[in-house]
Amino acid sequence: HVKTQGKGEIAVYDADFDQGRLRRLAIEAQIGKGLNRSEFEVFYQPVVDADTGRMVSVEALIRWPGRPEGALMPDQFIEIAEATGQIHPLGLFVLERACRDLAPLIDIKLSVNVSPAQFRDPAFERQVAHVLDQTRFPPARLQFEITEGYLLAHPERAIRAVEAFKATGMSVALDDFGTGFTSIHYLRSYGFSHIKIDKSLLVGLSPGSKATMLVTGAISLACGLDMRVIAEGVETETQAELLRAAGCHELQGYLFGRPMPIADLIALCREQFATEPGQRDHRLAG
Ligand code: C2E
Ligand code: MG
Ligand code: MG
Ligand code: MG
Repeated sequence: HVKTQGKGEIAVYDADFDQGRLRRLAIEAQIGKGLNRSEFEVFYQPVVDADTGRMVSVEALIRWPGRPEGALMPDQFIEIAEATGQIHPLGLFVLERACRDLAPLIDIKLSVNVSPAQFRDPAFERQVAHVLDQTRFPPARLQFEITEGYLLAHPERAIRAVEAFKATGMSVALDDFGTGFTSIHYLRSYGFSHIKIDKSLLVGLSPGSKATMLVTGAISLACGLDMRVIAEGVETETQAELLRAAGCHELQGYLFGRPMPIADLIALCREQFATEPGQRDHRLAG
């Protein structure tokens, strides 16, 4: 398309750009409405101990179902919510809902994704303390997952925030490890308790492959820095086997369970605990 800008000037009009912008504006407006109408939900994906296969924690993942045009996945709206500031109420909603849902499952830890914008918000620490207080969720069972971008941009502030959360008993994990540029130096400066190896690193994992060498190296690096290692996106037995052999501590992926609503998670917990006689009763409080 071509647009005239008066005086015979001609500017190229980018229809694709406008399409994208309109879509973003529409989603931005709908996020606000969606929050007011309680359209968002939280699903939980199991993380299992690599050796025993027992579920040790879950990752909370936001879902936006039941919209007339179909469900939107987080990759399609989290970035927009980050750009508009809507990530603050959205993130708090996820934290509060997840703490309420998981509070009765007393042996399962909870991991919640936190956006850089939340992490750098001076009000965030206080809001977290408030949610923990309201839901009576023990900080020792809560972990935040944070990606590399923010850490590299603001290392000092990020290190302080990680330390502050850890001081309350929480833990902080580095998410999507292997997709960014975290140097070994940074890894050492932060007090991460876990790193999560990104699923893109698990592609081509087969005995003796380069992918296997890379993942094995990443795992021993993290172990050497006293961090626990979680692999995400584990879909096959072969991957699980190789990751176990490489010393990975925890596994997460469709092989062990997809993200699911809280009712399904509770049913799964009952199943797991039923196979452990004598443990059943005290694990499901309430
Ligand atoms: P993430 O934190 O790295 O979460 C893992 C993603 O991998 C999830 O996608 C999960 O459904 C997917 N996944 C898990 N196992 C497998 C597998 O075996 N195969 C494949 N192909 N995928 C697997 P999801 O739920 O679409 O979330 C995408 C991203 O959106 C998350 O990546 C996270 O960065 C962001 N996100 C999700 N919920 C929240 C939230 O409440 N707050 C914030 N700030 N970000 C969120
Ligand atoms: Mg995550
Ligand atoms: Mg990840
Ligand atoms: Mg991701």
